[in-house]
Amino acid sequence: MAETFLAMPQQLEAKLGEWTARAGDRLRVDYVTSYSGHRVYALTLTDPAVPRERKRAHYFAQPHAHEPGATVGMMDVIEQLITGHDLAGAPSPLDAARVLAQSVLTFNPIGNPQGRERAPVLYWDGSRYSNDEFWCWMRGEDPDRPGQMWKRLDLWDDRVERAPARIGIIYEQIDPHRYVEPNRSHLSSYFRLFHRMDSEIGYDRWLDLHQTEFVNSPHNCMVLLALPGLAEGEIAREDRAWAEQITVAWQQAGFRPAPPQPLSYTGEQAEYFRRNWGALHQRMPILTSEIKNNAPDAPPDFQRQAQVIAIQQSIWRLLAMA
Ligand SMILES: [Zn+2]
Repeated sequence: MAETFLAMPQQLEAKLGEWTARAGDRLRVDYVTSYSGHRVYALTLTDPAVPRERKRAHYFAQPHAHEPGATVGMMDVIEQLITGHDLAGAPSPLDAARVLAQSVLTFNPIGNPQGRERAPVLYWDGSRYSNDEFWCWMRGEDPDRPGQMWKRLDLWDDRVERAPARIGIIYEQIDPHRYVEPNRSHLSSYFRLFHRMDSEIGYDRWLDLHQTEFVNSPHNCMVLLALPGLAEGEIAREDRAWAEQITVAWQQAGFRPAPPQPLSYTGEQAEYFRRNWGALHQRMPILTSEIKNNAPDAPPDFQRQAQVIAIQQSIWRLLAMA
C-alpha cells in the first residue's frame, strides 16, 4: 500500500521527475516555499495548444496535514491524466486528451508539507491511534486537559498562547513565533499559492478535499456546501447540483454518503470561514469533500477511491459546462 499511497512530500517530489518527463509541456510545476523551507506545489495540467479562453479552469487543493487521503486522491488523478492508468495500474475512465484540451486543472496535493511530514503514519486507518490520540496529533494536546486536543485557532503566537508541547500537525509555522491553520488564514502557503496561481489563471471553480471521522454516523463520505448565506443565486444552485452529482457517484460505487449540507460552524469558526472564504464563494462554485478518516472501516484504498470519485465527477461536470 505504501507504494501506491503517495501522501508524503518526498513521495510527491519523487513522482514529479517521472511526471514532468512523461507529460512534457502538458504539466506545469509552480510552488511557493514555506517558512519551514518546504515547497508547496501547484501542479497544472492542460493542453497548451488550446488557448485559455476556450477552457475552464478548476482548482483542487487540500489544507490539512492530518488528511492524507485527500492528497492520494489528487496524486491518483494526476497519474491517470498523465499515464492513462491509476496508481494501482487500473485503466483510467478519464479521456485525458479531451480533458486537457477543454480545461486547466491545478492541484495542490499537499497544502502543509511541514505538518504532513510530522505525521507519525502515512495514512490514518484507526489501527494505531484512537480518535482522541489522533486529534491530539492534529491540534496538539491541551496543556490544561491531558489527553484532550487543544483549542482551534486560525492564527496564534507562541509568545501569547501557552502552546502544546508538541505542536499539532494541522498548523503551519509562518514565522519564528506564529502558526496558522492553512484554510483559516490567507497568510498560509496554501492560500498564498492559490492567489499566485489565480492571478494568472483565474479559476472558475474549486474543490477542497478533506477528511473527517464521522463519529457515531452511518455515513462515510459527504459533500459540504458553503456556510448559509455565503454562496447565492446561480452559484449556490450550481454548488448544490454539483454536490448531488458527486453524492450519486459515491452511492453507485457502494459508499455511504450523507446528503450534501452546508457547513454547520457557528461563532468564531464560522467567522473564520466568512472572513477567508466569503469573497471566493461569491465569485465561483466551491465545494468541500469529506471522507472518513482514522477508522478500520475506512481503509486507505477507500480513502483514495472516494476522493478520486469526487475529483473525476468534478472534471466531468466542468467539461459538460464548457
Ligand atoms: Zn480538513
